[in-house]
This record gives sequence, C-alpha cells and structure tokens, in this order.
Amino acid sequence: MPGTVTISMEVELGWGVHDLADDAHLSDDGVPERAYLRRLLDRCDALNVPISFDVVGHLLESACDGDHDGPHESGWFDADPGTDAVSDPLFYAPDAVAAIRDRPTNHEICTHTYSHVPCDDVSAATLDWELSRCQRLHRRNVGNETVSIVPPRHYPPPRAALRDAGLEVVRLSRDTSDRGRLARLKELVIGPHPTFEPRLVDGVVETYCTTYPSLTASTLPLGQRDPPAPFSAVPVALRQRLQRTYLRRAVDAAVESDGHCHLWSHLYDVANEYQWPVIEGFLSELAARRSTGEVEVLTMAALNDRVRGRTAEVTGRA
Ligand SMILES: [Zn+2]
Ligand SMILES: [Zn+2]
Repeated sequence: MPGTVTISMEVELGWGVHDLADDAHLSDDGVPERAYLRRLLDRCDALNVPISFDVVGHLLESACDGDHDGPHESGWFDADPGTDAVSDPLFYAPDAVAAIRDRPTNHEICTHTYSHVPCDDVSAATLDWELSRCQRLHRRNVGNETVSIVPPRHYPPPRAALRDAGLEVVRLSRDTSDRGRLARLKELVIGPHPTFEPRLVDGVVETYCTTYPSLTASTLPLGQRDPPAPFSAVPVALRQRLQRTYLRRAVDAAVESDGHCHLWSHLYDVANEYQWPVIEGFLSELAARRSTGEVEVLTMAALNDRVRGRTAEVTGRA
C-alpha cells in the first residue's frame, strides 16, 4: 500500500481575522494572494496534484449589503464592508473560487464556515445557519455541496451539526506542544512532521494536521508578515533547505508506515517569494514519488471515501 498525502489550504483573506485587530500577514488589495493562487494552480495542473481548498463561504458572494440577518451575536459582522468584490477584494472572492473550479485538476472546494466562526463557541442555530448557507453557495458557485470542512482555528464543531449539513470529513489539529518548547521548536524547523492516521469518529471522518501551518515554513515570512526575529538572522537559502527537508521527511514517514500525511497552510502564507520556491519544488517531488507508486495524493473528499471503504473517487488524470 502506498502512503497517502493530503494538502489543504485555507482561502479566507480578510475573514480570517475580521474579529481580531491583526492583519499584518495580509496584503491590502488581495493581489499577491491571487497571483500566488494562479501560480499554485498552474503548478498543480502541470503535475496533476489536487488540493482541498477550504474557502470562507462569504468569499463566494460577489456583493452584499453587510446585513446578514443571522442568529450571530450582535456585532459579529461589523467588519463586513457591505460592498462588492471590486471595492473589497479581501471580503468577496468569487473570482478565486471560479479560478480553482475551472482548472482541469480535480481540486476540491470545501468549506471553512460562512464567516469564520469559532465552531465550538457559537449557538447551534448559528452553526446551522452558517453551514446551510455555505452549502447553498457551493450548490450555486461550485455546482455541488461539499462533504469536507476545516473549522476555523481548528475549534472542533459538534459532530451532529456536521452530519446535519452533509459534512462527512473534518480536518482537526493535534497539539504537540506538550512535547516541550525545544522539541516543539525542533519539530517546527526540521521535523519530523507528526503522523496521525485518519479515522471515523461518531459518523465523521477526522483527518489530523499540525497546529501550525506545515506546508509553509515557520522560519520564513508568512504572507506579508516577517518571521520571528531569531529566524531572520539565518540565511534564507538555509531556511528554505530546512523546509524542503521537513516536507520530504513528512512524506517519508507516510511512505514508511503506509500511513497518512496531511499538510496545510493558508493561501496568504504562500504569497511571497520566500515560501513559493519551496512549495513549487515540493509539488514536483511529490508528483515524482507518486509516479513511482510510493504515495497517492488524495483530497479530503477522496480520503473520506478511502477511510469509509468506498471506492475512491478519481482524483484526476493518472
Ligand atoms: Zn456580507
Ligand atoms: Zn481560518
């Protein structure tokens, strides 16, 4: 049995931090994020590597009046500009979703809730409103409902809410910070990426990833934000080489154990010249290892089918 690798990426833009006052990682206009999305999609098409893009539902809207009339706590939508995609491209991005949808590679467009709500801390009515609205938008913009969700900040949603919304697979994080600060730092910089097998729990398949973005390097700038000061003193080429090794070893671990490896980042993390060459090289290496039969690359939807013992869906050209 080959090992399996899943890559998932949050597309949230302004919604990722609309309830916080910290957006140093984001551009002002969404241009670099979209440019790197195009480069990523081009690369994926050249290699036929599918990615699960988990998209904040509001980004599927092309315009709104800012009044969503949901059962949210008052003020939740205060940052919603109530305009359109031309005026506020960080809050509306149907173009980005269409760009993913229209590519030949069989990418998955899954959900990250409608407005980036903490799924463990909102009322059942709010979560139900969020998820049913997302499914409606997926039917309209993507052509089908999604079976996959990545909950914002990995706060675990009640499983009944997922089942009710037709969601069958959820990405959750596994915290390894109990291994101590030094071990954690070592894991972040050189690995090994921890391996956790997906499993069916209470009717929902759980696939596990790290608490920190693993596809991108913590030592390099994340999006528009500089890395922590100590890392800036290390040459960029060395930091990139460490991340290449980290990613290679993450796949090694899945291959050696016939196991699973789930790598992730936000779209904005990728959007700079430091992260991109590493990701570009990693995707090529992954495709090469797939062609030798060492690994398969599965979207979350395909992984869901695999864990449930269903016939795996076709993930694109062989
Ligand atoms: Zn809105
Ligand atoms: Zn998020």
